[in-house]
Amino acid sequence: MDLAALLDRIADDVAPEVGRGAVADYIPALARVAPGRFGMAVAEVDGAVHGVGDWEHPFSVQSMSKVFTLALTLSRGDDVWARVGREPSGDPFNSLVQLEHEDGIPRNPFINAGALVVTDELARHGDAVDALLAFLRQESGRAGIAVDPEVAASEAGHADRNRALAYFMASYGNMRHPVPSVLDQYVRQCSIAMSCADVARSALFLARHGVRNDGSRLLGLSAAKRINAVMLTCGTYDAAGEFAYRVGLPGKSGVGGGVLAIVPGRCAVCVWSPGLDARGNSVAGVAALDRFTTLTGWSIF
Ligand code: GLN
Repeated sequence: MDLAALLDRIADDVAPEVGRGAVADYIPALARVAPGRFGMAVAEVDGAVHGVGDWEHPFSVQSMSKVFTLALTLSRGDDVWARVGREPSGDPFNSLVQLEHEDGIPRNPFINAGALVVTDELARHGDAVDALLAFLRQESGRAGIAVDPEVAASEAGHADRNRALAYFMASYGNMRHPVPSVLDQYVRQCSIAMSCADVARSALFLARHGVRNDGSRLLGLSAAKRINAVMLTCGTYDAAGEFAYRVGLPGKSGVGGGVLAIVPGRCAVCVWSPGLDARGNSVAGVAALDRFTTLTGWSIF
């Protein structure tokens, strides 16, 4: 398969979708990103990386970070599943409604409530963002990966919903650390800037059933399988059914416009285009992954 040529073709095919949707504006710094951006990178399990468009341009990873914090906390043997479920929510990513019915236990680790719990769990071992950055820098090979301070400050100033989620869970005893500290780490983890190439390289352990780029093992087979399964069922929030239908891969989106998808045994793919649909998923990003699995036949189905 000539992946470089394939990516060129996908970029042409989805060009009419680029700029559609709306750039996230509830975090003001994200609203300043040009909606016409599009980049896509494929990292293969043997280490080869291919890209098209803005594939080396850093953008705000936002909720794609949730995959990596979950992997890191599981790699430390934490029993995070006692504190967070693994069912799709069918509600928006920042929803509060189910928490009251489920005793402060979030439905899954990829909605905001669940990710706050995962960050809180990882913070048992020190600052969660320090751990995350160390991992992402090593896997991507790019030592310059960092939190974008402007995005972090902007999100921190508009975090009332996430603050409410965290305090609500704290009222059920489902926060280990003080809410301000967990919220600060969560906001900074979302504000990390990475390119499509960085994200795809960093996620290869999920395509290799838990094995990192240096050959060491981050996760056992079972934990890696479970993260991919939860990505499939919960990674794109209340559009996870549609994403499975169109793309047929474990995936994780972020409101910065990035979408990560895993082809187990083969590759990790990351697409970036900032225009979002009503559920907060990149319009051109999902369209590009739809084309990718259609043209390659590389869906898990
Ligand atoms: N930082 C964003 C938030 O907490 C992440 C949301 C997302 O990417 N879906 O709202």
